[in-house]
Amino acid sequence: MLANARDNLRAACDQLNIHPDVYEELKWPRETLASTLLIRMDDGSRRAFKAWRCRYNDRRGPTKGGVRFHPNVSLDEIETLSFWMTFKCAVANLPFGGGKGGVCVDTKQLSPVELERLSRAYIEAFAPFIGPDRDIMAPDMYTNGIVIAWMSDEYSSITGQASPTAITGKPLAFGGTVGRVDATARGGYYTLRQLEKSLDLDPDNATVAIQGFGNVGYHCAKLLHADGYKIVGISDSSGGVYDPSGLDPLAVMQHKHETGSVQGAKGHGETRDISNAELLELECDVLVPAALERQVTAENCGRIKARVILEMANGPLSPEADRALTQAGHIIVPDILANAGGVTVSHLEWVQNRSGFYWDESRVRDHLKTTMETETQAVWTLHNEMEISMREAAYVHGLRRIAESVEARGTQAYFDGS
Ligand code: NAD
Repeated sequence: MLANARDNLRAACDQLNIHPDVYEELKWPRETLASTLLIRMDDGSRRAFKAWRCRYNDRRGPTKGGVRFHPNVSLDEIETLSFWMTFKCAVANLPFGGGKGGVCVDTKQLSPVELERLSRAYIEAFAPFIGPDRDIMAPDMYTNGIVIAWMSDEYSSITGQASPTAITGKPLAFGGTVGRVDATARGGYYTLRQLEKSLDLDPDNATVAIQGFGNVGYHCAKLLHADGYKIVGISDSSGGVYDPSGLDPLAVMQHKHETGSVQGAKGHGETRDISNAELLELECDVLVPAALERQVTAENCGRIKARVILEMANGPLSPEADRALTQAGHIIVPDILANAGGVTVSHLEWVQNRSGFYWDESRVRDHLKTTMETETQAVWTLHNEMEISMREAAYVHGLRRIAESVEARGTQAYFDGS
């Protein structure tokens, strides 16, 4: 995955004729720490879990990125996600570099107490590596508010003082910010709204399918539904539901709470259960992947019908699928732009924790809206002016900012006097 991600970097460097020193610096992560977390299970046994934290590049500021608990987490995935975070923070013009962490674990197999032990053990292992001015953590897949609260609590215990600034995405009672819960989804929603005219999307007639019904997928569904978009498909890890007459996200969530699955939920017409594979291939205007990486690949990309793909998950398209769909005329709004709303509001949480002064929701939302609209427009303009895909444009946009901070420290041209 990292090798593929590096191809985007190479292409952006070529587009901008960037100094080779910049590519040399960005092609590898700055540092990655691996650890084995040893947890006492409820039955008295001991289990080991592989864990990582990567700081990819910190030229623009401390590294920033979530922690993921998932059985497929690997070193390659964590380093790739931190590469993407480096560009995402630059696209959103935040004073951060990129980082990421994760534990290879299926949280559904753990009791709540085991999950707490694991969350605290993660911080114990990585406390010397992270910190408010070094590497700031946040939630990601299967690391919800309580996991983040345990982590923040553990970090404060280890440092011997209240240290809310090292971890964002905290519950409000732990120094979190208003507006963080739906920030990622809201950011994607502002991006899509900014592009509506350019993409000829009319919310009153457009249809949407959403893969993943967790934090990002659910809030996306709610915001788009409230704007008039018809949500025709929703899925989670257990499968999906389809209704051409539309689904109400609140009712689907209620059903998921009651039964543990979105399947079986009732929409406005003839609702039927579908698989995740079918959801991706639904007839719709906008496909919103909001679950895992590499859901659309060379194998299924020929069957994707959505004209617009709003990448709310990180890396939901394989490079082959990305190329094929772009060539076929689909518009792909890339992850490093579309899902940058979360880290944008995380930045505001960090600012509020540092100042000790807390903002109200409208101030947080206004800032998020302005950021997403400004950066979306900048990427769209580059896409048109340079005649490159939106993904390439987003990389060019981010790379310009990162390159400035690398070049400000001197490149070969400075040292050999050329
Ligand atoms: P989450 O844990 O809240 O939800 C994940 C959802 O994906 C769940 O509904 C789960 O059932 C579903 N899922 C898991 N495997 C699936 C599969 N094989 N097919 C279909 N659905 C599946 O996670 P989240 O915070 O909503 O994150 C979703 C994506 O958004 C991830 O790629 C994450 O990296 C990305 N993201 C999240 C944030 C954030 O602030 N939460 C920010 C940026 C990017």
